[in-house]
Amino acid sequence: MAYPAAVREAWQAELAGIREKGIYKEERFIHSPQAAHISVEFPSGAALKEVVNLCANNYLGLSSHPEVIAAAHKALDERGYGMSSVRFICGTQDVHRTLEQKLTEFLGTEDTILFPSCLDANAGVFEAVLGPEDVMISDRLVHASIVDGIRLAKAMHDTYKHCDMAHLEEKLQEHQDKRIRLVITDGVFSMDGDFAPLDQIVALAEKYNALVFLDDSHASGFIGRTGRGVHEHFGVMGKMDIITTTLGKALGGASGGCVSGRKEIVELCRQKARPYLFSNAVPPPIAASAIKVLEILSATTERRDKLEVNAKFWRQGLIDAGFVIKDGESPIVPVMLFNAKLAQDVARDLYYEGIYVVGFFFPVVAAGQARIRTQLSADHDIPMLARALEAFKKVGAKHGILGLDKKGIIAKYGQ
Ligand SMILES: *Cc1c(COP(=O)(O)O)cnc(C)c1O
Repeated sequence: MAYPAAVREAWQAELAGIREKGIYKEERFIHSPQAAHISVEFPSGAALKEVVNLCANNYLGLSSHPEVIAAAHKALDERGYGMSSVRFICGTQDVHRTLEQKLTEFLGTEDTILFPSCLDANAGVFEAVLGPEDVMISDRLVHASIVDGIRLAKAMHDTYKHCDMAHLEEKLQEHQDKRIRLVITDGVFSMDGDFAPLDQIVALAEKYNALVFLDDSHASGFIGRTGRGVHEHFGVMGKMDIITTTLGKALGGASGGCVSGRKEIVELCRQKARPYLFSNAVPPPIAASAIKVLEILSATTERRDKLEVNAKFWRQGLIDAGFVIKDGESPIVPVMLFNAKLAQDVARDLYYEGIYVVGFFFPVVAAGQARIRTQLSADHDIPMLARALEAFKKVGAKHGILGLDKKGIIAKYGQ
């Protein structure tokens, strides 16, 4: 087998370059189930340490919920471990059908098709339903998996400035000659935690005869009065033509995603979407547990209500302590540090204080917008968050950033 030295060296040089830029991603090893408190190796290989987890997408605290685990056990016994098949050959069980029906009901759409992940849903849907006579008009900050899905489709692609409705309107006017105009947005944007103005997007779509695509991965289960998502929050349930979302965040946190929406779109995906046709079915225990999750969420809003209380307490606590945060209402609360090294240093110091957070910087966020993204969970409680705030204050004071505004932090550390 040829593995020429020149090739090995080129890749080694590329890896060294990533390290030198200080953006090399390290994995941290967790020895406990996903939860508000986790047990981690720190530093790698050392004795285990208990930390408060503030960076999971475990918004509703269902990743290790006893009823969710019990549902997986039961399905494991009754339906087995894996399907060893894609859906259309011999990979569809009753649990897949039930889950699709429950998702349709929960999201307020016409029909739903499961995918191995939401990345796969986004990779498959545009190519399956759009052609060269159509245009995809996406917000400039949509998730990376949407960007990839757009690349695979034959329709023309255009963008509008982040949440800028005047710019979207211009684009819709510009593309009146196309067969289909599909407006594409995330519901909650993952790095800033802000909401797409879906009521305004729907109004523009109606005015200019366009369809709306919503990726609600960071909202399904907890945004809106009964947790249906950003469309519920803005009072436009039933008006989404396509919703994609993940089972890998609030809805149990294992894996799986879906395309939910107009009947014909879902049916076309069943016929044509490549990740659906060519990748394995969601395993039975995961499908069964996701059904259980939707049952729990349909019975009570207790968890999403608690999450809302936690997020409010956390936002206010950080503001009172003198941190710069991004305004918003979601349980994604970015603590702005602007400088990449500062973000890494603060994250590391917090880890030593027993708080698991991660620094984000270019290219994950725009250059000069480095931050620590904190995420709340219904599994957190106020005393736990109060202790975490004390750790934030201690580390913030160490770096002399408490009470500084954006200008002050940049003057001190650079951008
Ligand atoms: C996390 C996320 C995805 C990917 O979901 P997976 O099911 O993990 O593939 C897609 N879109 C958005 C907006 C996300 O936040």
